[in-house]
Amino acid sequence: MHDVVVIGAGPGGSAAGYYLAKQGLDVLLLDKAGFPRDKTCGDGLTPRALTVLEDMGLLNELLPAGCRLNRVEIASAAGQTVTAPFPGKNGRPGYTLIVPRLTLDDTLRRHAITHGAQFQSQVRVIGVTANGKGVEVTGKRPGGSFSATARVAIVATGASVPLLQQMGLLKKMPVAALAARAYFEEVKGLTDAMQLSFAGVPLPGYGWIFPLPHGAANIGAGIFPWGWAGRWMSRNTRQAFDSFIQTPQLREMLAGARQVGPVKGYPLRMDFLTAPTYAERTLLVGEAAGLVNPLTGEGIDYALESGKVAAEHLLRLFAATDFSLPRLADYDRLLRQRFQRLFRVCSLTRNLFVNPLLINPMVRLAARRPDLKMVLIRIAFGEQNTLENITVRRVLRRVFAG
Ligand SMILES: Cc1cc2nc3c(=O)[nH]c(=O)nc-3n(C[C@H](O)[C@H](O)[C@H](O)COP(=O)(O)OP(=O)(O)OC[C@H]3O[C@@H](n4cnc5c(N)ncnc54)[C@H](O)[C@@H]3O)c2cc1C
Repeated sequence: MHDVVVIGAGPGGSAAGYYLAKQGLDVLLLDKAGFPRDKTCGDGLTPRALTVLEDMGLLNELLPAGCRLNRVEIASAAGQTVTAPFPGKNGRPGYTLIVPRLTLDDTLRRHAITHGAQFQSQVRVIGVTANGKGVEVTGKRPGGSFSATARVAIVATGASVPLLQQMGLLKKMPVAALAARAYFEEVKGLTDAMQLSFAGVPLPGYGWIFPLPHGAANIGAGIFPWGWAGRWMSRNTRQAFDSFIQTPQLREMLAGARQVGPVKGYPLRMDFLTAPTYAERTLLVGEAAGLVNPLTGEGIDYALESGKVAAEHLLRLFAATDFSLPRLADYDRLLRQRFQRLFRVCSLTRNLFVNPLLINPMVRLAARRPDLKMVLIRIAFGEQNTLENITVRRVLRRVFAG
């Protein structure tokens, strides 16, 4: 019997596996994919994500593989832009790094293995059953079936829901954004800015241009098709992507560029505010717990952080040999203390401002008001200290003060 079986070797699962194995626990990490594998993503590592990667001792290894960006540039639907440096507060790096997931996820997975985790690829887990002593994990692999036992399971399966549905943890389809992206080479006009744009994409939604080394870029578009917008919004992300790359700015940047690989789309679960995060002998991390920022769509940072929080919590449970449901529920409390307020403020900010009526005036206002601009950027990039002083009332007061 293993101590912990971790299902899913994305950032959340590999981070959890690393922190547990490093402390000497017997960890089995499983993934349905063969590695290295791609994951449809914008590849953007926020300062929050970089902080965990630094803690894991991986930042220096990843820096040469990525493109370091010092600023964020936001364009309104009307094309007006506003730029700001990354705050770099509270000991966090003042930059972002764009690293293709093919490289990032394999680096994380290998790091977990180097620190003692065992790994098996091409195992699609189809069941996790808890009993008095632990969990039984069953699955399929090429040419046969798979089974393993462990004292605890971590489910880190991302936006893929069949396993959570089979476990009875998701009764209905969770709220999800939809996004599509493609890689391009020889892109013109790339700078040291992470570019976000509301031009050409259905709202609420946005397009992005994330530069990669050697003139390449990850370019994509995402939409939030629920609530009031869900009534009229098309769910066709390919259409949103095509419309984004037809804007004058993108036409200019992509004139003479080469698309590498297909346009790929994937959902993003954003339902952390109501999502389950634990069950008998089981913890959920990353997107399996709905942990994607509801304003920006970033989820690598929250996957890494929740992987670390889950590992640290399990280490306490192993020390006390207490895997009772109330102790597992403490993990949920830890996550909510850390993320609930942030996710609520981000959801409200998106609902209030990312719409055809207000997005242009908001970007115009932010261009005139550096204080407001920095508050909004700190909210979007999850600066905890900013949030401690923030209420929706205060944000509105700041907006209307100018
Ligand atoms: C188009 C797009 C752009 C995005 N851009 C960004 C961005 O720029 N920055 C950012 O921070 N976030 C971004 N995100 C979100 C980010 O990709 C995810 O939130 C993040 O990957 C979540 O990490 P995770 O470890 O929870 O899950 P994942 O990275 O999805 O990993 C889950 C793993 O579980 C495995 N798995 C699933 N089911 C099973 C099973 N039954 N058995 C075994 N293995 C299984 C999968 O193969 C996978 O390897 C984007 C998402 C999309 C769709």
